Amino acid sequence: MSDGINSIMYEFGAGKSAIRTVFEETTKLRKQGRTDFWDFSIGNPEVPAPPEVNEAIVDCVNTYAQLDMHGYPPNNGWDETRAKVASCLNRDFGTGATAESVIMTGGAAGALTATIASLTTPGEEVIVITPYFAEYRMYIQSWHCRCVEVPSIPDTFQLDVDAIERAITPATRMVIVNSPCNPTGAVYSPGSLLALGDVLRRKSAEYDRTIYLLSDEPYRQICYDGVVNPWVAGYYENTIVVYSFSKALSIPGERIGYAYVPPTVKDQERVIAAIMGGQRACNTITNGLFQRVIERCVDLPAPVEEYARKRRIIHGGLGRIGYRTTRPDGAFYLWIRALEPDDHAFCRRAAKFGLYLVESTDFGTSGYARLSYAVDDWVLTSSLPAFKALWEDYGGYTW
Ligand code: PLP
Repeated sequence: MSDGINSIMYEFGAGKSAIRTVFEETTKLRKQGRTDFWDFSIGNPEVPAPPEVNEAIVDCVNTYAQLDMHGYPPNNGWDETRAKVASCLNRDFGTGATAESVIMTGGAAGALTATIASLTTPGEEVIVITPYFAEYRMYIQSWHCRCVEVPSIPDTFQLDVDAIERAITPATRMVIVNSPCNPTGAVYSPGSLLALGDVLRRKSAEYDRTIYLLSDEPYRQICYDGVVNPWVAGYYENTIVVYSFSKALSIPGERIGYAYVPPTVKDQERVIAAIMGGQRACNTITNGLFQRVIERCVDLPAPVEEYARKRRIIHGGLGRIGYRTTRPDGAFYLWIRALEPDDHAFCRRAAKFGLYLVESTDFGTSGYARLSYAVDDWVLTSSLPAFKALWEDYGGYTW
């Protein structure tokens, strides 16, 4: 008998992401009081939120009347919050943002969901660059679109613009880029974005349809050694920008971010209206109190020096043992070449040594593992002997 269960939603609910599977395993160990393991699974910053965030919460509670804080905000967010975000975007990127072009959302996840829901039609194709944040697949397939994977350039993990061009078909509606990239830490070069803009412009004209660039930027400020993340929307007019406060302010549980539609986007007002429709339909609206907090905290710097120190500890430590890893230019993940080709087997064997990593297949690439270094320094330093033991167990690289 037909049970009405939507098979796509069932698959998403019953099958967990590899990140969540490992995170749940380590949560169980923690609950058992175990301390003999190292959890590198999830990008859930252990760096505390800046004190200004907690002060702003108190200030908001003492400042606002009930309805201006706990009441229903407009579907796109409080006017004042959007105006504040727009003025910061204008100051930092000279982008011509207005409060109307910013839509406050439940994190980057909410903004991605609402944008993909509103700018695609079932049967269309959305291109992602491997390795990629695995949730994109779900956001795309939920709307009955095809997730088309295009590999980045081996070793540098930069955009392979020729490969993207070859993957574009008359059904392509969108390309998603994520710089700095989770999981590789690559920051896309201005040259590659320039070339990508040219390709998208040319292909849009050839197929007589708008191909959107969706720029997912939760790690925008977390760049090292003077590397600057390019303002992606400056390279292609039909770019929608997605941002999150989860990482820079260490508040992923508060679920706050935004989508921004620049004035260069074709039919900007219609696109904004569609994303607001997606936001209503998917209920990706964010909470009122935290929008007020963001009004006060939007300018706080990300703790880049702390992450740079953590990167030094783990990148240097693993390198000295012999592991081949990226040296990320941004974000807070290390992309480690697995000691055997089967990344699932490698991660299971690492777990026997108390090392919880995420296998790379979930990110659309085999043979690697992802390590999140958004953890306490002692987790990084104390894990190195276990990484050494794992290395010795394998006898180094087997491939
Ligand atoms: N996009 C990327 C690349 C991410 O790494 C994450 C979270 O880890 C998200 C989006 C979702 O972020 P949020 O917590 O704002 O929903």
